[in-house]
Amino acid sequence: MATGIHRGVTLPAGRVAAVRDLTREFGDRTVLDRLDLEIAEGEFIALLGRSGSGKSTLLRALAGLDDEVAGEVAVTGSVAVAFQEPRLVPWRRVHANVTLGLHVPDAKARADAALAEVDLTARAGAWPLTLSGGEAQRASLARALVREPELLLLDEPFSALDALTRITMHHLVLTLWSVHRPAVLLVTHDVDEALLLADRVLVLDEGRIAHESLVTARRPRHRDDPELVSLHSTL
Ligand code: ADP
Ligand code: MG
Repeated sequence: MATGIHRGVTLPAGRVAAVRDLTREFGDRTVLDRLDLEIAEGEFIALLGRSGSGKSTLLRALAGLDDEVAGEVAVTGSVAVAFQEPRLVPWRRVHANVTLGLHVPDAKARADAALAEVDLTARAGAWPLTLSGGEAQRASLARALVREPELLLLDEPFSALDALTRITMHHLVLTLWSVHRPAVLLVTHDVDEALLLADRVLVLDEGRIAHESLVTARRPRHRDDPELVSLHSTL
């Protein structure tokens, strides 16, 4: 594969993304340093790492939002992203935000279905600025879902939410994942969240995947749980 970003390409069997030798520099700072990563169909990955370790930079490269990377990025054509700030367009109602840029004949019906799935049907006609934080994040998830992604990129989508809303969102994301089975790459700084949602956890450090582990079970952890302790020690 030639250097560059390849979207909608045929990937090795069972993969939705393959990254090789990915390097991103900002001035004289190397944020991603010849990073390798493969993402399998339907897997749920949590990406941990200290603030500034390059998590969002990696996610932007996978989303095709950064064309100044060096190395190879091959990604399925159907990728959707949700960010920490829901980034809804304030002068369009919720339903119109969900269909924004979606050029398919059944866009309206798809948006209706996606809004129902995130339990936001009642707010479909609302203006984004009238939504609560949790509702806005659910609208953002509906906007991602409506694109029927094979790869769903989530950049700290729950970090700004209160604890109770965050728990609701955890359940919602797991439900959506088990119904639609996209591969998910969830950026988080929360080890508990990673062990509750993911089946593989990666830790980014010094521009590389410094640690990788498979999660034995999706469940809340006691604070001396060995997997939790082990992951904390890598951060
Ligand atoms: P994380 O998401 O892990 O907190 P980021 O990927 O956002 O980290 O950023 C990694 C590093 O790259 C940080 O030091 C950040 O300041 C730097 N960086 C990110 N984007 C830019 C940019 N557009 N220009 C300059 N530096 C940047
Ligand atoms: Mg970030």
